[in-house]
Amino acid sequence: MTKPYDVIVVGVGILGLAHAWHAARMGYKVLMLDTTASAQGASVRNFGFVTVTGQRPGEDLPMAVRSAAIWKEVSEVVGISIEQTGAWFVAHSAASEAVLKAYLRESSMTGCCLLAPEDWQQQPVGPFLGEIQAILHSPHELRINPREGIPKLLQWLCEHAGVHFEPSAHVQTVGDGWVQTPGACYQADHVFLCLGDRLQALLPEVWRAFELRRCMLQMLRLEPIGVRLDHPMLTDLSLIRYPGFATLQETQALRAELTETYPRHLEEGVHLIVVQDADGSLVVGDSHAYGDDVVPFRREEVDQLILDAFKDLMPGCRPVVSERWLGTYASSAGPSWFIEPVWPGVHAVQVTSGAGMSLAFGLAEKNVQACLGKLGKTPKNWGN
Ligand SMILES: Cc1cc2nc3c(=O)[nH]c(=O)nc-3n(C[C@H](O)[C@H](O)[C@H](O)COP(=O)(O)OP(=O)(O)OC[C@H]3O[C@@H](n4cnc5c(N)ncnc54)[C@H](O)[C@@H]3O)c2cc1C
Repeated sequence: MTKPYDVIVVGVGILGLAHAWHAARMGYKVLMLDTTASAQGASVRNFGFVTVTGQRPGEDLPMAVRSAAIWKEVSEVVGISIEQTGAWFVAHSAASEAVLKAYLRESSMTGCCLLAPEDWQQQPVGPFLGEIQAILHSPHELRINPREGIPKLLQWLCEHAGVHFEPSAHVQTVGDGWVQTPGACYQADHVFLCLGDRLQALLPEVWRAFELRRCMLQMLRLEPIGVRLDHPMLTDLSLIRYPGFATLQETQALRAELTETYPRHLEEGVHLIVVQDADGSLVVGDSHAYGDDVVPFRREEVDQLILDAFKDLMPGCRPVVSERWLGTYASSAGPSWFIEPVWPGVHAVQVTSGAGMSLAFGLAEKNVQACLGKLGKTPKNWGN
């Protein structure tokens, strides 16, 4: 029997789209399936912040560098705006400045630097910022608006790359080269299951084997504050979360200090990322609650912790909340991502470090080359 598709990708979040992108680019016929008619999971609820500098040294860092490079290409080919580039890591104390300096000394990443005070004071955002000890500027990050970019990428793949998308196609079971939805059974030699935290429902044995937990995050949108932020901003609280910084010895003193100054923030896993959309509104967050039975209700106290951290960064602003939402992803204390064979040619793929926007394109490229490259197709030139 002839199979109409070479590759089936289940899930139209960023991980599924990235696998479809690379497979279609190699000339394979790709079918995408999703329970919903458009992405509604973590991939449209996040900051859209492609972080490089904070990634774990080892395999993740070059994967993030590669992903950011592919994002630039995707944004050009598909027409997705890069809203902001680079990042500012803002230190408010001597302990956090010591972490930034240690990073500059010890990281293999080049191109980052500490700004001179006049460099930030003279920026439009300067008058809004409070007392600052130091700022590390990284040129490596980029930021897209996920609510626009993710659906646009799916549409482009369907209209220009020969990808076929079946919405409302909930995969109930998978087997050796097939996936079953209520309405049809689809076959292909290669299947990538990119299910986000829904993996637990379809493949509970994989969920257990990788000791995954659900992580729930609270996010806020603030009304425009009348100033353009050239770079996403993060603060001291982020330095103890991102492995690129958190693995430095100097972080121990910072953690001890933050335990005194921000005890509730640490208990609720709150750190601060501030990004800006084209309309001037700010997306700020986030918090981290872990467990398989995280409750689906927002907690006002957690939102206030996020807002307190924002006011500490920008005491010159009066934040007005215009939107609040929750997001979830599958998290692991172990590796940042995995690709797991569940049947011959059928793989479950996950990013488990909360960094899917930052790692997906690099990971998918590696997976597609490993699983499909041997068929000897050559990458298509898509307008670059
Ligand atoms: C609030 C928040 C902020 C974040 N910020 C960032 C950030 O700034 N930078 C960063 O790098 N990462 C960030 N992350 C992490 C990032 O969003 C995730 O790692 C990434 O989106 C996961 O993508 P995914 O495609 O695996 O999952 P998802 O986006 O959840 O997509 C999974 C898809 O699979 C479909 N699906 C599931 N089961 C089935 C089934 N049985 N049949 C058919 N379809 C199915 C779902 O409907 C869904 O569309 C953040 C996450 C959250 C929640």
